[in-house]
Amino acid sequence: MSPSDLNKYRQILGRKHEELAAAAPPRTPASEPGSKSGDWIDQSSQESDLHVQLALKQTDSKLQRAIEEAIHRIDAGTYGICLDCENEIPAARLEAVPWTRLCVECKEKKDK
Ligand SMILES: [Zn+2]
Repeated sequence: MSPSDLNKYRQILGRKHEELAAAAPPRTPASEPGSKSGDWIDQSSQESDLHVQLALKQTDSKLQRAIEEAIHRIDAGTYGICLDCENEIPAARLEAVPWTRLCVECKEKKDK
């Protein structure tokens, strides 16, 4: 991969990483003593919201880690090489999922 390609992916990854960091700011617990609001219906919908937020957060932090790893691989000079078969990952796949570690074939094998 040419240095200008590497630079391009580094920028894409860096931007995406920033986006994720901005979307998930450290949350301070909203504590309002004495304002236990609502009946049990409100309560349960609040709980399920929390659950969804938690799930989203986990996905985000997973993605963030994948992006960080990809940036490390750019620095190490192994970016764009499949970790399993060690073939080059096609540019089209890197364009679509720049933080990928596997080529399509190996990814599909893993999914099965
Ligand atoms: Zn592969």
